[in-house]
Amino acid sequence: MTAMSDLKSPGSLPGNPFDSKAILDGIRRRVEVETPTAAPEQVNRLATMVADGYRDLPATIERVAGRDGRGDHLVARSAWGQDQPGILVLSHFDTVHPIGFIKRLPFHIEGDSAFGPGIYDMKGGAYLAYHAFRQICAAPERSPLGVTQLYVSDEEIGSPTSRALIEAEGHKAKYVLVTEPARDGGKVVTGRKGVARFEIFIKGVPSHAGIPPQDGRSAIRELGNVIQTLEGMNDPEHARTLAAEIGFDLVDTRTSGGSDGNFTAPHTATIDGLGVDGKGAHTHYEQMYISSIEPRARLLHRLYQTLQ
Ligand SMILES: [Zn+2]
Repeated sequence: MTAMSDLKSPGSLPGNPFDSKAILDGIRRRVEVETPTAAPEQVNRLATMVADGYRDLPATIERVAGRDGRGDHLVARSAWGQDQPGILVLSHFDTVHPIGFIKRLPFHIEGDSAFGPGIYDMKGGAYLAYHAFRQICAAPERSPLGVTQLYVSDEEIGSPTSRALIEAEGHKAKYVLVTEPARDGGKVVTGRKGVARFEIFIKGVPSHAGIPPQDGRSAIRELGNVIQTLEGMNDPEHARTLAAEIGFDLVDTRTSGGSDGNFTAPHTATIDGLGVDGKGAHTHYEQMYISSIEPRARLLHRLYQTLQ
């Protein structure tokens, strides 16, 4: 059903709508625009490129002018579902790498790894969320909740010019999905009011071309279950027990590192670590795993489809 309607809709890709080669090509284009936090004109170039990608979609774009020497922020809102609390996707444009670093770490592929400045933290993940949104738009049926993707320009320095925007959008949302990289092993971090932040170890099997998606997607269904279970619950032990029953380990990660998700987790159910898997954030060997593209894009798509 989904495949049929995808084929008929404008903007869909032929064949597998989550083809990792096509998605990687989109990631590469964003990686090749270098965006150190301290180079607002570069961040704004990327903001323009990203905004252009929504032009043919049922979405409205709000561009918030940068200040204090930082680049612009971008808010892309689905044309539907904006009259009630929806899904906020939190992403950032900026990287820690200085201009010219791409000469040292050009985009290239070695085996399952794709290298490039910011490819793992977090241009890969931000693109997956955009791609998943495109696929929602390509199908006749909209997601139950509206989807808003917020891209900020200054996460790598603690979001001084975007924090108020993140908090305002976070307060309006029912769920916050953060496209920071997956922790090692494909962990996902969740948090909600009154509940410790958790990491969810997804035990599902990645699906490959030719394998029916339903055979590889049990983890995604289960993650949806976990989120619905966490919703309306503020007993961490209870959550942990239930998650274990359906195949997840929940690990308290309150002490884990910073992310913009920390600004929303105190008041809105927040799931962090939904970006690509890989390693070497902020290093000269930063890389993402190509095999993580399809399952993680499908996971985001499934979250859009099922959160309500
Ligand atoms: Zn990041």
